[in-house]
Amino acid sequence: MKPPSSLEELIEALRCLPGVGPKAAQRMAFHLLQRDKPGAHRLTNALARALQSIRRCARCNSFAEEELCALCASPRRDASLLCVVERPSDVAAFERLGSFRGVYHVLGGVLSPLDGVGPDQLNLARLLERCAGAAEVILALGTHAEGEATATYIAQRLRGKPARVTRLARGLPAGSDLEYVDEITMQRAFEGRVNL
Ligand SMILES: [Zn+2]
Repeated sequence: MKPPSSLEELIEALRCLPGVGPKAAQRMAFHLLQRDKPGAHRLTNALARALQSIRRCARCNSFAEEELCALCASPRRDASLLCVVERPSDVAAFERLGSFRGVYHVLGGVLSPLDGVGPDQLNLARLLERCAGAAEVILALGTHAEGEATATYIAQRLRGKPARVTRLARGLPAGSDLEYVDEITMQRAFEGRVNL
């Protein structure tokens, strides 16, 4: 029997999630409709609310519900320590460590000339402005080639500026995105950061 088309559509939509293939998507769709309709409603409402209320922080470009995110708005964070990351999920990964007291700057990607991503697409001008008042700029980008190239580019642009420029210690798995690195490895890489 052919499933109704709205069910097919749901299965197809669930496949936008990372790591979800056709089988897993089908299992999720049947689970929600057969066994957990309240869960399905909660999911729909939470997703709709998040899509509507989450925007980018005017200062650091991470996720926010107000003009500034909770971290930029907090008087307890040290604005002279600036940690540069690729994505909002990297901010979440650092916050899970619980040891960083500074603020972040989310690039929104890394330099990738082949994909047409240059310094203008990453809004690097804004980062350089923020670095002017920083004591330390920590380049915490992925260890893939584009992440390394982006860190080198930013370090060059900051040469001669008063801020100390550091990067995470080697020891992170090569070619990895930070959000998939375990917390102990990340903590070590963070504590052992080196000057650039
Ligand atoms: Zn912010």
